Amino acid sequence: MPFYCQQCGECCTQMGDVHVIKGEFGNNEYLIRNEYTGEETRSRVSPQMLHLFEDRSTFERWPKACPFFRCDTSEKKGYCTVYPTWPEICREFSCWRLLILDAHGRRAGRVMTGTYLACEDNLLRHVWDYHIREMEAADDAEWQRRVTRILTKLGYSVIR
Ligand code: SF4
Ligand code: SF4
Repeated sequence: MPFYCQQCGECCTQMGDVHVIKGEFGNNEYLIRNEYTGEETRSRVSPQMLHLFEDRSTFERWPKACPFFRCDTSEKKGYCTVYPTWPEICREFSCWRLLILDAHGRRAGRVMTGTYLACEDNLLRHVWDYHIREMEAADDAEWQRRVTRILTKLGYSVIR
């Protein structure tokens, strides 16, 4: 399955030193410069996101957030206000290679690179530490199959 973002906002909350506004063209259009790669993007705040963009309370909680990130606290969701004219690096970014959902479809954990698990579920953490973390497999495909088999038996879904 292709990567899809669950809008937790974690990645965007630390991008304030990376994405810097270098110019304004009016009509809610900005020049964004990536201070690490030098990439420059002309992005426009989506009309339906303007009300969120004008509310700067996101920065009280995340002072290092990207200038275009906003968190909707009522929905507990993060939004990129310049989507779909966001920088290429954001379009290509994916934060997991395996996504693990619990029996209710809620995110329980994400496997990032290697076998590192970012986990939000105590049972999953326990199973991972005792049965998966040190598990050996012939190759990555086999490892993923075995992880999927173990977790599926416990009621999780594994998306890859
Ligand atoms: S890319 Fe990942 S970390 Fe960033 S908002 Fe989406 S789910 Fe969260
Ligand atoms: S431009 Fe959008 S997706 Fe990219 S870091 Fe900023 S808020 Fe996140």
